[in-house]
Amino acid sequence: MISPSKEAIPLPALAGFTKRHGSWFAEEIPLADLAKQFGTPLYVYSKNALVQAFQAYDRACLDANGQRRARIHYAMKANSNLAVIDCLKNLGAGFDLVSGGELARALSIGADPSSLVFAGVGKSSSEIRQALKAGVKSINVESTAELQKINRLAAEIGCRAPISLRVNPDVDAQTHPYISTGLRGNKFGIAYHEVLKTYREAALLSQIDIVGIDCHIGSQITTTSPYLDALDKVLDLIAQLKREGILIHHLDLGGGLGITYGSETPPDITEFANTLLNRIAERGFSHLEVIFEPGRSLIGNAGVLVTQIEYLKPGAEKNFCIVDAGMNDLMRPALYEAYHGIVPVQEKNVKPSVYDIVGPVCESGDWLGKDRLLAVEEGDLLAVLSAGAYGFVMASNYNTRPKPAEIMVDGKNAYVIRQREKITDLFATENTLPERNT
Ligand SMILES: *Cc1c(COP(=O)(O)O)cnc(C)c1O
Repeated sequence: MISPSKEAIPLPALAGFTKRHGSWFAEEIPLADLAKQFGTPLYVYSKNALVQAFQAYDRACLDANGQRRARIHYAMKANSNLAVIDCLKNLGAGFDLVSGGELARALSIGADPSSLVFAGVGKSSSEIRQALKAGVKSINVESTAELQKINRLAAEIGCRAPISLRVNPDVDAQTHPYISTGLRGNKFGIAYHEVLKTYREAALLSQIDIVGIDCHIGSQITTTSPYLDALDKVLDLIAQLKREGILIHHLDLGGGLGITYGSETPPDITEFANTLLNRIAERGFSHLEVIFEPGRSLIGNAGVLVTQIEYLKPGAEKNFCIVDAGMNDLMRPALYEAYHGIVPVQEKNVKPSVYDIVGPVCESGDWLGKDRLLAVEEGDLLAVLSAGAYGFVMASNYNTRPKPAEIMVDGKNAYVIRQREKITDLFATENTLPERNT
């Protein structure tokens, strides 16, 4: 019944979370204490894991002499909690934004507008105005129609619009189809063979300043080769543009570097950065300002979701471990059939069984893990690992379930960085129809 391959999936190395004498800790605090104090389901982040992940990236951006070769713009859609982005801002990160809402978050923590790039395939007029007025470093443009709209809106406001074109390099990032973005068939970016033409068009527009070029090929990518393929294609474009007198100042390579959830072995960050930055130098483009936009690889393994077991439900085909966190709290398994390590918060000496770990939501897709060997009883706590990225931010109120609280642990201290929602808040803005006298 226990398939050996599943049993063999190792736990990811987690900087901020450790098991001590059978109990899991977030830094210096037992997860069980946090669950008791703040309830479940509960997102818990380790500040130091986040800091370490950022610093590893940042070090990789320096050359052997300590000269900066690249900058990090955190893709806040991975986790946009104010505490997370404020922490990264203080470490020197800029941000990659994909909505007016994210722009407002960045401005609310006092991020320097010149550290913001604004991406997204469907920016609305009001979002573009918001970005122009804020003075972002670059709007990453994904179509000719958007370029024309930005030019028009900048004229209305009476400003110039700094833009980059997002190139769709048509490379296969070898990741899940839902998180692949750099293939011809994806909605993202400007088709490779139309990029030069679009830059020429941009160069003629009265309000447009061409500042950069951008590409982002997908997410949870675990090899460097698709990045190198995309990079070479983008460098070819930059060279051609230069011959035509169109100068590119910055090269934005997007994000997408994968993390270890289970058996993935993504490249080491220093190796990854060196491979790409060396290629840029070898090809004679060291003058470009390079930007990386990591999201998942900064915060993914810095967070867990703690949940309590409501019921154990043995069955002929399957045993179910029914927990109080559902697909509305952590959508990745339902959306991508994603794997997350799941561990008992406190080890116990009871008979282990193989379970599907499922939530309370009325959907068969509502599961967090399948075929996991667990020694647990009703009322025990589980930690769903690697839940820091695309976890809380994707949470919904489906089934009128309040979103979990978020806690950030720093050493011995725990901070509530988002309060648990109250049920009454969930329908406070709804109205019944006025009474009709029929
Ligand atoms: C989502 C996204 C990122 C970050 O992707 P990760 O896989 O979380 O690193 C970076 N840039 C853009 C434009 C994105 O849409």
